[in-house]
Amino acid sequence: MKAMGLVPSGFGADVEGRLLIGGRTADDLVAEAGGTPLFVYDAGLIQQKIGLFRAAMPPEISLHYAVKANPYTPLLSWIADKIDGFDVASAGELGRVVHLGLPISFAGPGKTDQQLETAIRAAITINLESEGEGERALAIAAQGSRPPKLAVRVNPPFSLKGAGMKMGGLASQFGVDHDRAPALIRRLIDAGADWRGLHIFAGSQALHADALIEAQAATVALAAEISEQAGTPPPEVNLGGGFGIPYFPGDQPLDIETVGTALAKTLEGRPKILGETRLSIELGRWLVGEAGVYLTRIVDRKESRGETFLVTNGGLHHMLAASGNFGQLLRRNYPVALANRFGTEADSEATITGCLCTPLDLLAHEVALPRAEVGDLVAIFCAGAYGLSASPQEFLSQPRARELLLQG
Ligand SMILES: *Cc1c(COP(=O)(O)O)cnc(C)c1O
Repeated sequence: MKAMGLVPSGFGADVEGRLLIGGRTADDLVAEAGGTPLFVYDAGLIQQKIGLFRAAMPPEISLHYAVKANPYTPLLSWIADKIDGFDVASAGELGRVVHLGLPISFAGPGKTDQQLETAIRAAITINLESEGEGERALAIAAQGSRPPKLAVRVNPPFSLKGAGMKMGGLASQFGVDHDRAPALIRRLIDAGADWRGLHIFAGSQALHADALIEAQAATVALAAEISEQAGTPPPEVNLGGGFGIPYFPGDQPLDIETVGTALAKTLEGRPKILGETRLSIELGRWLVGEAGVYLTRIVDRKESRGETFLVTNGGLHHMLAASGNFGQLLRRNYPVALANRFGTEADSEATITGCLCTPLDLLAHEVALPRAEVGDLVAIFCAGAYGLSASPQEFLSQPRARELLLQG
């Protein structure tokens, strides 16, 4: 028997023991959506996370949503009036939010001239990833009448400790090395750009408050140091994000109150040059990850060499991360359950697979479950971020997944 992560809070069972998502049974939601595989996102749970953030963080911190985590269009429309900005990392993501009326910043390597032009026309902030990108943006803007809104993404000399994905302290395609940022800032300002400030992202999926506190303090200090050297205050600094969620056995939720209290202290003592600076934090998975459930149906139950396999109509083509193939070093089990027997005690062991013709397509390995039959619904939790859009949906030409946003 292998362990699995804990089912996130916010899900219940009805009197018959069926999983409730946003107060409705999984079967009911599948019927509404027209079938499985299906991603359900409970907006009420996202709302709770936004509330937690607002309560814990200093009021001057703006909350940005990193569209990369989940770009489902109804979710973006829903969240738009509850946050302070969108961070996009491609022209396609920009297209999904440009009409929603919020401040937008556009980061990400490999922006083409055409994409830079689109961003400049839309008057959004471009987070430059290199000096070369800066020169191209200036040249494109020179053809028009409006100065481009430019910020510099900094490759920091430190990384977020214990992060699932480190994004600092290394040679990188992301951002301009911190010691070269001041010269680039001078160049942009001298060329007449509308200087917007700095973007410093040090990593993702941190569960330890101490690591985030340290990274945030280092980020504030670095933003001040770079601005001093450039000789100009930054109108805005994006402090990054990296707030993680528990996926696996032993993972503890992030203590966001402690992070907020420490950040307030850091900001109290901030260097003068940041006195008028607007500060933001960009979050993806912490806001939406635990609000999503991936529902698939068992198509086959088979025994092989003494083990039970439950083969579903879903798989890694929709939920790559649960298969352990989205950047994980070690495969571990996401929280899973039988949706139509959520309240029933586990009395057997099974391996849940997808329907793809590859042994990589493992959704849960040797987990404890109530006895399951063909037709039962499997729920995989923590599927609200890096689910469908982070999966190779075309692989094996299986049917596409459905998506549903549940608004209370
Ligand atoms: C991926 C990414 C995010 C979102 O990360 P989460 O772990 O989902 O919060 C935020 N900012 C940048 C720059 C990113 O690349």
